[in-house]
Amino acid sequence: MNKEEVKKFLEELYLLQDLDLLIDQIIDPTYLQTFGFKVSEEKVEALKQKREEVAEKLRKVNPRWLQTYERLRKKYKRGIARVVDGICTNCFVHLPASMNPYEVDTLPTCPSCGIILIWMD
Ligand SMILES: [Zn+2]
Repeated sequence: MNKEEVKKFLEELYLLQDLDLLIDQIIDPTYLQTFGFKVSEEKVEALKQKREEVAEKLRKVNPRWLQTYERLRKKYKRGIARVVDGICTNCFVHLPASMNPYEVDTLPTCPSCGIILIWMD
């Protein structure tokens, strides 16, 4: 994968995480209490289906990287985190200044917590 393909993969992966976090939130029993409305089973199922579509697309591009995401999500509830001002927003460590975003065939991960990283443009 060239740099552009790596970047695109990470953007799609971030979308997958948005869906995962949303699904986690709406199936949580406290959701109704917190937000005052309930999401129908049908809508939850539709979201889960969309989630699978996105995951399948990523699996075709790089199954190993998707597995890394799934493994990290079990640990942190998130598998990918934004880099903001050179800081990993999962563990809040300053990343080495020498670290380059998006290298060929490389899944960028935080040297401290191991989460997958995506840079803010
Ligand atoms: Zn980190």
